[in-house]
Amino acid sequence: MAFIAFDNVTKLYPGSAQPAVDRVSLEIRQGEFLTLLGPSGSGKTTSLMMLAGFEGVTSGTIRLEGQPIERLPAHHRNMGVVFQSYSLFPHLSVAENIAFPLKVRKLAATEIAARVERALDRVHLRDFAGRRPNQLSGGQQQRVALARALVFEPRLVLMDEPLAALDKRLREEMQLEIRRLHREVGVTMVYVTHDQSEAMTLSDRVAVFNQGRIEQLDVPSALYDAPANPFVAGFLGDNNRATGTVAGHAGATVQVALAGGGSVVAARASTALAAALESAGAARRDVTLCIRPERLRVLAEADQAPSIAATVVDLIHQGDHWRMIARLDHAAADVAAWHVKLPPGGVLAGARPGARVRLAFSAEDAWAF
Ligand code: ADP
Ligand code: MG
Repeated sequence: MAFIAFDNVTKLYPGSAQPAVDRVSLEIRQGEFLTLLGPSGSGKTTSLMMLAGFEGVTSGTIRLEGQPIERLPAHHRNMGVVFQSYSLFPHLSVAENIAFPLKVRKLAATEIAARVERALDRVHLRDFAGRRPNQLSGGQQQRVALARALVFEPRLVLMDEPLAALDKRLREEMQLEIRRLHREVGVTMVYVTHDQSEAMTLSDRVAVFNQGRIEQLDVPSALYDAPANPFVAGFLGDNNRATGTVAGHAGATVQVALAGGGSVVAARASTALAAALESAGAARRDVTLCIRPERLRVLAEADQAPSIAATVVDLIHQGDHWRMIARLDHAAADVAAWHVKLPPGGVLAGARPGARVRLAFSAEDAWAF
């Protein structure tokens, strides 16, 4: 049995035409770190709030260890929560903030003292026990919030963009800290973020949200290496796209006639596309071709290898790599310029803005949806 199960859960806010969460089904395993990832407005927070009990469910069922929880009030759900705004009590010290959930639960004073000590050690704040929140940095305040969410040994910890207010370096440090805490404590964590690298750093599995629905739920490497559709391919990592029609196919390998002219081979048709081609045949079916920037090679204009003609628009040094932006000669109007990620020494001589080049890739690195 799943630890938590969303079964066809919909949330329609009063006065809204579109549901914020639209028939979502999802299973969360005990002890896992599951992240809800998606763009702003895709329904992540609403899903988390329904799980926490701060928002009601319009239809469908949420179960915790098999029991429906819609009628269980938030304070009876035994879940720790951490939000973007620290929501610490400003007039209480760090230790008193962490002790608060234990006092509410009426634990004995000696037990509270022992648990607060342990929690302070866990988040490396022993020396800050007596300070007020306004005497702490943003990162330290979020450590207190984490300690307070963990101290009563909840069965589940929910976090909604807890690191969004921190600068990049501190955010990355805190990601590793949360990852370590999850491993040490072993509690089930459900985490919301719009940041794909944060999701990949932290998560056992990631549910990719888009417009109130889950596009794909899988381990991070599978989302990156085998996205189910162009949305997932574009949301996790960069992606280049072109549109076209199927000119021929065999299994997962398709020949794509690009909308702007030219033809390429993609060896990784999505399961859905391969099945559709199998049953209905190619018949000029529309497809989207996707290739990651790090999988492209830049060739000289005269090169005869299978490749796509393009003009360099820009070449940007990004420290550990170069990013080339190139416009395809025959791209359909709605296709953005392609990005190519090149190793520091790997830029073709003379590939300056305005230069004519060819972009090549191996069929195994090209997806078709
Ligand atoms: P996310 O956390 O992914 O950014 P939300 O769950 O906050 O998304 O929002 C999903 C959709 O629901 C958005 O269109 C948002 O405007 C809408 N929404 C969120 N909260 C409310 C509310 N309290 N009342 C009405 N609409 C809301
Ligand atoms: Mg949100």
